[in-house]
Amino acid sequence: MSADALTARIYQTLADAFGYRTFRPYQEEIVRALLDRRDVFAVMPTGGGKSLCYQLPALLTPGVCVVVSPLLSLMKDQVDAAQKNGICAATLNSTTSLAELREIYASIDRRTLDLLYVSPERFNTPRFQEFLSSVELGFFAIDEAHCISQWGHNFRADYLELGQIAELFPNCPIAAFTATATDRVSEDVQTLLKLRDPFCVRASFDRPNLFYQIAYKEDFDRQLLDFLREVPDESGVVYRSTRKNVEKTAEFLRKQGFKAEAYHAGLTDAERARVQDAFANDETPIVVATIAFGMGIDKSNVRFVVHGDLPKDVESYYQETGRAGRDGAPARCLLVYGYQDIAIHRSFLDDYQDPEAREAASRRLNEMVKFAETDGCRRANLLQYFGETYTPPNFNADENGSDADASTDGAPRCGCGGCDYCVGSVRRVDATVDAQKALSAMQRTGNRFGVGHIVDVLVGARTEKIERFGHDGLPTFGVGADRDKTYWRYLISALLTQGIAELDPSKDFPIPRVTRLGWDVMRGQRQVKIVERPTGKKKKATSRRSGGSSTLLSGSGSSAAFNAASANPYSKNSLSPRDRRLFEELRALRLQIAKDENVPPYAVFSDKTLVDMTYLKPETDGEFLNVSGVGVKKLENYGYEFMQAIRQFLEENPK
Ligand code: ADP
Ligand code: ZN
Repeated sequence: MSADALTARIYQTLADAFGYRTFRPYQEEIVRALLDRRDVFAVMPTGGGKSLCYQLPALLTPGVCVVVSPLLSLMKDQVDAAQKNGICAATLNSTTSLAELREIYASIDRRTLDLLYVSPERFNTPRFQEFLSSVELGFFAIDEAHCISQWGHNFRADYLELGQIAELFPNCPIAAFTATATDRVSEDVQTLLKLRDPFCVRASFDRPNLFYQIAYKEDFDRQLLDFLREVPDESGVVYRSTRKNVEKTAEFLRKQGFKAEAYHAGLTDAERARVQDAFANDETPIVVATIAFGMGIDKSNVRFVVHGDLPKDVESYYQETGRAGRDGAPARCLLVYGYQDIAIHRSFLDDYQDPEAREAASRRLNEMVKFAETDGCRRANLLQYFGETYTPPNFNADENGSDADASTDGAPRCGCGGCDYCVGSVRRVDATVDAQKALSAMQRTGNRFGVGHIVDVLVGARTEKIERFGHDGLPTFGVGADRDKTYWRYLISALLTQGIAELDPSKDFPIPRVTRLGWDVMRGQRQVKIVERPTGKKKKATSRRSGGSSTLLSGSGSSAAFNAASANPYSKNSLSPRDRRLFEELRALRLQIAKDENVPPYAVFSDKTLVDMTYLKPETDGEFLNVSGVGVKKLENYGYEFMQAIRQFLEENPK
């Protein structure tokens, strides 16, 4: 086939089977490499569009392509989605019945099966390998390939056996995909899978449609409520680190009138499956969960992810927040953390048997704390962790290239425009003097009292304990009376997270004490900055950060800024009120169809596709095919119903 003819076929397939006109970054290169029968190693972020990278070439390759994927639920969703696009796909796992098995084998014989999804356990059976050697194979695709590496955070012993593929099927290309980017894991995966001069791709880890926010934990329930008010009626996940907290937060949300459910390892399998399905099907919009929740979630319209506790490392944070906004429409990520979280993670470190592994986990935790605490653009900090230098798009340049000063909506725009820091809702203030007061209170009371007592000394409270120990005679007694207790607790938390004070590990009770850094502060050799408390009663001073215009955002919300920053054409927020109603009708129709077909709604159409459809209001087949995400098969299956609904809406709601 000539190069031009091949290109035409690739793009035709992209439009017909997937409904897209353009590739996402690197998709085309990967597709071409596989069609060239070359091994591929691709690191792409969640939502980067990995599945298309192997599904598309599978349609153009003779023989069946085998996809190894770690989770049953993921496989099922992928197969459902592929079938909806008219791709012939099947899954083979422990739940496959004999009749299904026969049907699969028969379709392979007829050469009609494009993709066969298998679990690693299944691949590892001699019978299956024997079977594979008797059929015409296209290529192997290994999903979540980092599971083969012990350096990653999801090691699965079953994956190790996949190292045999290269020897057993030497003529078959192998494509490995992962969203885990560290160099060590990357090298490990390539070595263990024995990839032969692979075509390597490392897509940017930037997720431009995600808005990042980090807040200090003061009163999580209240902070969560404030946040949820900014994302009404949206679907999302709230992560908590323990079962108890999961239950507590879920209960709290229900009391507040939200439809929320808990998910953790303590529930029965059946209950977990039910919660997961209800979430996927948009019946339960909010799931409060431990990190056990997520690996199996392919739901593309998750609009927010909240971390109510500090994640254990930046990889986890990235992966968990990455579950938001896979459809490319705007989504928000809020991290709320406090020093108690760090203490809990530290205590988990003792579970490590291997000192090297413990050391590595401890280092990762420190990186996470650093990320949460570091000044500057969240996006840039996050990407830097993955070895990327972020260059912000220039929002301020107008068409002629000159800088137009402020944006029309008044939100300041500098840096990435998609994080709390860059939109100007985070400010740090100098708290060196207050820190010295607090540290001195710890030091003078002998570094052996809890936070409550230290705070009492600072504000000059007359408690029984203070009198008993004679602490009212200390020079620090009452030096902090100009501030309330909440402020001092908050300040001490900040000192603990910044390592200026630490909790004495030899005590059962949390006892803060001064660290080496703390001494530098006391001697005046080091400054302390803390995030200004958004709820503080103090009047806000005017602040101008370099580059930004001076409008400040009110309250704790970054909502206005988020909406401004997410002037994304695929956001339903950008729809007119009339279009918004049409969108809701199309969404209801999608839910109905999904129920009838027993698949999750996003498998019918993504949110992004519905928004595009709302804009375009297609009335003919040709117009319907123009909608992003609509291929031939979906036109055939759903075109009539959706165009009918649009027509009816237009009749009932003339302009
Ligand atoms: P990943 O597996 O990398 O997390 P997916 O394969 O699930 O990502 O794709 C994420 C979303 O992006 C899906 O809704 C998919 O349909 C969409 N998508 C993939 N490729 C494209 C493309 N070229 N143009 C538009 N949307 C795409
Ligand atoms: Zn930013």
